[in-house]
Amino acid sequence: MAHTTDSTSAQNVVGGRKVDAVDGATREIVNPATGATIGVVPEGTGADVERAVEAARAAKAEWLDATPGERAGVLLGIADVIDANREQLAQLESADAGKPLEAAREEMDGCADVLRYFAGAARNLEGKAAGEYIKGYTSMVRREPIGIVAGIAPWNYPLMMAAWKLGPALAAGNVQILKPAEGTPLSLLALADLTRDTIPTGVLNVITGDGPNVGQKLVEHPAIGLVSLTGDVRTGKTIARTAADTLKRVHLELGGKAPVVVLDDADVEQAVAAIRVAGYWNAGQDCTAGTRIIATKGVYDRLVEQLVPAVASLKVGDPADGDEIEMGPVISKRQQERAFGFLERATAAGATVLTGGSNGAGPAGGSFVAPTIVADVTQDSEIVQNEVFGPVVTIQRVDDYAQALAYANDSRYGLAASVFTENVGRALDAARRLEFGCVWVNDHLTPITSEMPHGGFKESGYGKDMSMYSLEDYTQVKHVAMRIGI
Ligand code: NAD
Repeated sequence: MAHTTDSTSAQNVVGGRKVDAVDGATREIVNPATGATIGVVPEGTGADVERAVEAARAAKAEWLDATPGERAGVLLGIADVIDANREQLAQLESADAGKPLEAAREEMDGCADVLRYFAGAARNLEGKAAGEYIKGYTSMVRREPIGIVAGIAPWNYPLMMAAWKLGPALAAGNVQILKPAEGTPLSLLALADLTRDTIPTGVLNVITGDGPNVGQKLVEHPAIGLVSLTGDVRTGKTIARTAADTLKRVHLELGGKAPVVVLDDADVEQAVAAIRVAGYWNAGQDCTAGTRIIATKGVYDRLVEQLVPAVASLKVGDPADGDEIEMGPVISKRQQERAFGFLERATAAGATVLTGGSNGAGPAGGSFVAPTIVADVTQDSEIVQNEVFGPVVTIQRVDDYAQALAYANDSRYGLAASVFTENVGRALDAARRLEFGCVWVNDHLTPITSEMPHGGFKESGYGKDMSMYSLEDYTQVKHVAMRIGI
């Protein structure tokens, strides 16, 4: 039977049933481009976590018995549901997270792709050969699911970050409880509803609520064996501390402050085109956003000359106005004020705003920040060292390659970096020296693919999303040794 969704009164999905919060509480969901309420969802508590854990427990044994081929079939089925409902899900995502509709459509395609990747990966787990490593015994390695795993998603790519967790969790044979960010639950709730006939009962449970009342309770729960978070560094640290009490595994995809190193021999047009996307895609609310441009002195002036008009030309507005809108609002008034605060403190300290600034943009009522470039910033300044999470990019002039790499690596974050150069040897050297989980050469942000790992170094966290590395993170290894008889 096909289910329909109603974005104005979405419900949780627990044990295959649509349910309200145990205590009946609700939260209004707001469109950040207009300030209008677009939905009402359950607002959970620890009681919702308990109910979801019971549903997951009940589903665990049967899902463990599913063959990799059967698990793959379920993941392929979810991907097909996303394809079939692409427009509806994209519309929900666009309205809930304030992103251009075309970008939201692409994200739906990305969700389907990653689930199809993990459908294939489920059937391709590899390990050490069984053998007689001890005389008289045959040893073998089993890679087993962890059991019940929890996924906690952020608001910047609501469904895609959930899909990055759902794919490896189910492929590896785990049952899962997913919590979307409290402000952006509509797409995941819709998908959970649409897939009630596709996913075996209780294998995926989606519950809404905020960090302290639901997220924290998931992390504390002794029946849950792994918590995967995509979110802020501070949240990751809190989760790791809490998880220590039950020694559960944590998988942390946290913030970033990606450098874009542009060297004297770079193709400037290529760098400008890449930065116009990398700094401002999703209104800069991307953990891999290119937010720190570091240019050597021979290219700095040419880069600024071309980059400033390119960034100023970005079309900002309410995504509902049409496909020509390239950048929507930031997620909330709070996030807007946060970005303006960074800009005010930076300019008070001597920084120069080359374009944009704290003048806002887009329709009244929405939480817009104009695409901004800030120059004359020191390496130790707040705006260079901390994640703004908005369309705000700094540009720094450095003497040479060595200083560029030193500045790039001088960060507590280590998620992504890029280098622009026409010198292959330099590119290889930079790829080795940059202390980040992902390094791009002559591009930034767009080359992300399901087959390759995504995850950070340093305070950007540990554990990988996508790729076989992620599937391994969602499994545990067992050694079985058997005495040989005759
Ligand atoms: P956030 O940390 O505020 O919230 C993320 C999720 O954690 C939400 O679902 C929230 O309810 C939950 N949460 C908050 N406190 C919690 C607690 N104490 N216990 C358990 N759960 C808790 O992050 P956000 O503002 O939603 O997302 C933006 C952040 O995510 C940025 O820092 C960004 O860089 C990061 N991010 C990282 C990646 C990556 O792949 N590394 C991808 C996207 C976003």
